[in-house]
Amino acid sequence: MNGKVWLVGAGPGDPTLLTVKALHLIRSADVLVFDRLVSAEILREAPSGCEKINVGKLPNFHPIPQHEINQTLVHYAQQGKRVIRLKGGDPYVFGRGGEEAEALVENGVEFEVVPGISSAIGGLAYAGIPVTHRDCASAFHVVTGHLKQGKEPQDWSLYAKLDGTLVILMGMSQLDSICEQLIAGGKSANTPAAVVHCASRDNQQVVCANLSELPSKVAQAKVGAPALIVIGDVAAKHSLLSFNASLRHIEELYNLERLFA
Ligand code: SAH
Repeated sequence: MNGKVWLVGAGPGDPTLLTVKALHLIRSADVLVFDRLVSAEILREAPSGCEKINVGKLPNFHPIPQHEINQTLVHYAQQGKRVIRLKGGDPYVFGRGGEEAEALVENGVEFEVVPGISSAIGGLAYAGIPVTHRDCASAFHVVTGHLKQGKEPQDWSLYAKLDGTLVILMGMSQLDSICEQLIAGGKSANTPAAVVHCASRDNQQVVCANLSELPSKVAQAKVGAPALIVIGDVAAKHSLLSFNASLRHIEELYNLERLFA
C-alpha cells in the first residue's frame, strides 16, 4: 500500500498558530520530516512511535541537499507511511515546497498541501506591523534576499521603485548592501523600516529605524537571522500596534479545552 506525503506549514513560531489540520496530521504522523525553523513545542506533538527526521541541519551544520530530502519523502511514502513534511511558515513561500511537490508527482506519490501562516505576513503582525494599510500601503512585495546558486543577484533598484511594503526574507547577511542599493535606486533614506527577529516567538526582537540607519541600529542591537526585513511606512506603526500575544503555548489550549468542556 502506498503512503502519502503532506507538505505542512508550521506557522512563524508561536505554536498556537498551527492550523487545526496541521496539528491533527502531526499527531497521526508515522514520519515527521522537519526544518530548522519549526518550534520544538510543535515537534513534541508527534506520537511517540513517530520517526522524526531533522533535515534542517546536520551536526556539522551543512544543510542536507534538496534532492536527498526529496528522496527521503519518496522513500517513506513508498513504504506506506504517513509522512508529514513540516516547514516553517507556509510550505510554498520560499520553503522549496514546490520542488518537493514536483518530486512527489514525478515519483507517483500522493500528496497534499496544508498552507501555514507565513512569517512574511503573520510574523509582521506579531511585531505590530500591518503588511497593508489604506493610508500608506496598497501593495506588498515579498522578496528573498538569497537566490539559488548560479542565479543573477536581485536587482534592488527595481524594488526601490515599487510603492507599498517590501518584505525581505533571508536577507540579513546582506542587510547593508540591500539598504544601500534601495537608496541608490531611489527609495528615500527616510523610509521607515524594521527588522523583526524570531517573530511570534518568546524571544521576538524588533529594531526600527529609517532605511539609511537600519543596518547600524541592527548591528548595535546584535540582531541576526532568522529575521524579516520590512521597508515601508507601515514599519512606523510598530510602536502603536505592538501587542502581547495571549495563548502562546499548545499546553494553554489544552487548558482551554478543559475549561469549556
Ligand atoms: N516558508 C517560510 C519562509 C522560509 S524562508 C514562511 O512562510 O515564513 C526562511 C526565512 O523566513 C528566514 O530566513 C527569515 O527571513 C524568515 N522567517 C521565517 N520565520 C521567521 C520568524 N519567526 N521570524 C523572522 N523571520 C522568519
